[in-house]
Amino acid sequence: MKNIPFSTFEIMHNEIEKEIECKFHEVYKSNWFISGKEVNKFEENFATYCGAKYAIGCGNGLDALHMLLRAYDIGEGDEVIIPSNTFIATALAVIYSGAKPILVESNISTFNICPENIEKSINANTKAIIAVHLYGRCADMDKINDIAKKHGLIVLEDAAQAHGATYKGVKAGNLGDGAAFSFYPGKNLGALGDGGAVVINDEKMANKVRMLGNYGSVVKYQHDLQGFNSRLDEIQSAFLNIKLNYLDKWNEYREEVANWYLQYINNIEIELPEASNNEYGNVWHIFSIRHKRRDLLKNYLENKGINTLIHYPKPIHKQIAFSEMNNETYPIAEEISMTQLSLPIYYGIKKEEVQYICKCLNEFK
Ligand SMILES: *Cc1c(COP(=O)(O)O)cnc(C)c1O
Repeated sequence: MKNIPFSTFEIMHNEIEKEIECKFHEVYKSNWFISGKEVNKFEENFATYCGAKYAIGCGNGLDALHMLLRAYDIGEGDEVIIPSNTFIATALAVIYSGAKPILVESNISTFNICPENIEKSINANTKAIIAVHLYGRCADMDKINDIAKKHGLIVLEDAAQAHGATYKGVKAGNLGDGAAFSFYPGKNLGALGDGGAVVINDEKMANKVRMLGNYGSVVKYQHDLQGFNSRLDEIQSAFLNIKLNYLDKWNEYREEVANWYLQYINNIEIELPEASNNEYGNVWHIFSIRHKRRDLLKNYLENKGINTLIHYPKPIHKQIAFSEMNNETYPIAEEISMTQLSLPIYYGIKKEEVQYICKCLNEFK
């Protein structure tokens, strides 16, 4: 069997190459590159896709989260609860706003923030909870929203890995007070460069986010807020408009791949993720397993031509950049970082390839 990459755009991009080329030419000839009809169209399309009222394009997922926090006036002196197991951007967005990220342990089997652990971290300074829908599975939103309501907290969704994911039939983007999406190329919906969006149902907040991302301005050269420059380009919006038409198809393929893995892996030492069900419609940004001897398993697979990744090898509180947290302990986050392994999952991976990966996994002693 040839080398199996962890992920590849090749098959997906081959199928839409002509459309992308035509669109590139069209935007090129339009002589209009920022804040035009392509981004307007994408914002409308993406809001519709999410079943939400507003989508506001911005530079990347980190900016989307940061601007949401700013829009809700979260800043210095405030605390924001985030999961101990997430990508660094969730914590950095809080730092950018001036607030303090407070880590709360995740659930070892869902990998998402554990609602039962949230309340003991709430104090008078707590202003918000960022629920991350990690690996394409929504967080336990009813419980999170109940806690938030009880304590008067804002709930933001970090939906960077969850385009199209559902919770009790509702799509990510509508499960809190505002959501941040990333269109980093490797995400389920990816641009051909950086990109992001805020998805939100509150008109006032939508306008504020839009203003923040455009130098705090609505009318050119009039600045009502000290904003940022974080906009989604016309060319990326144009590409995303094309790719959005395929997102459901690509997500359905990922669901199929995930079900192959769940069906064929029978090594009892491997902890499998939970399948999609009526409550959780996963989009499988990552297919995440756990094994006690993860590093040996990873090497073994590499020798068989199977490429895997670890999400994430070093928890936030162990990072040099967060030295103020280095003496804190989060056993679940640490356990995940030592045992987690992400298997290849992408549009176009063949069933035989997945079966080969499963066979190798099952033979690992
Ligand atoms: C990718 C990602 C982000 C950040 O998105 P960028 O577009 O890279 O800034 C934030 N949170 C999570 C969970 C992510 O996976």
